[in-house]
Amino acid sequence: MNTPAYSGIISNYVCTAACRHCMFGSAPDCGKEFISAEMAEETAAVLEKARTRSVHIGGGEPFMNFPALCTLIEALNRHGIGVDYIETNAFWAKDEEIIKERLLKLRYLGVDTVMVSVDPFHIEFVPLERPILLCRMLEKCGFDYFIWKDCYLRPLMKLDTTKTHTREELMQVLGKNYITDTAAEYGVGMNGRALAIAKDLFPAKPAEKWITRDPCSSLLDTCHCHFDLYGNAVPSGCPGISAETEDYLTENVPQDKYPVLSRLYQGGTAALYEYAKSKGFVPAAEGYPSKCAFCYAMRSYLVSSGNRSADLSPVCFYEQIDKIV
Ligand code: SF4
Repeated sequence: MNTPAYSGIISNYVCTAACRHCMFGSAPDCGKEFISAEMAEETAAVLEKARTRSVHIGGGEPFMNFPALCTLIEALNRHGIGVDYIETNAFWAKDEEIIKERLLKLRYLGVDTVMVSVDPFHIEFVPLERPILLCRMLEKCGFDYFIWKDCYLRPLMKLDTTKTHTREELMQVLGKNYITDTAAEYGVGMNGRALAIAKDLFPAKPAEKWITRDPCSSLLDTCHCHFDLYGNAVPSGCPGISAETEDYLTENVPQDKYPVLSRLYQGGTAALYEYAKSKGFVPAAEGYPSKCAFCYAMRSYLVSSGNRSADLSPVCFYEQIDKIV
């Protein structure tokens, strides 16, 4: 079984924010589903079998269900898997007492590092005063933390930190191209909700340009992949494609069970195109800005035309991304 490295657990896809760069298309209207105690146990057991030493925890927003987050950490502890850090947008950091209570609980469970999101995308949903307060409390409670990305703190401090800000307000402070500039600076993987940014950044080219037999080999890569609340592994950089965790880690992806993943892995977008075409897919005349945008269009077609397979998951991802591309 392959060993995941720098990998993470997605405790839930639902989030209080719907950021423009979100790889997983998380949003407040994704189903309010959180990792169960059983799934936490099952995933931790498989990861232990795969000799994983530690993982990070993200979402969605893991602090939307603090008891579920704690249950997940307890399961990881039982299997000897450490938590590198927990990611949060700090939406919940409004009250010092509540923050302290939660941090003490996390400390008790063995967690000592938190990643706090601050950037021109999160600020549309979370007032800056909350991540700032959370960082103060993390310091006070002796936690390690890092702000992703702290280079945005100074420019965003020019705005009213007690409220969220619209795209128009942000354009005034950060410049009219701030979305594409931030995406480029951030090194945003142009997938998930960032497919909409890719449309603004890159000229559309005909589908033929993106048809290649080169396999998408990152699909079964165990570096920086994620394991979600449904018991699926999600490859790094390819949201909306998944396989059951154990199948993924043993590279057991038969074509009848995983018709999309197996084709992309073996025959690239050319193999997926042949499959999608056989189900009635017709490429858009205006073309696509990237290979991944073309790949998404084929997968979205399969989901919406009643040809959804187990590897086109989670459903909420396609519902969210279809709204913006
Ligand atoms: S084309 Fe599809 S499978 Fe290949 S890297 Fe992009 S999203 Fe992943």
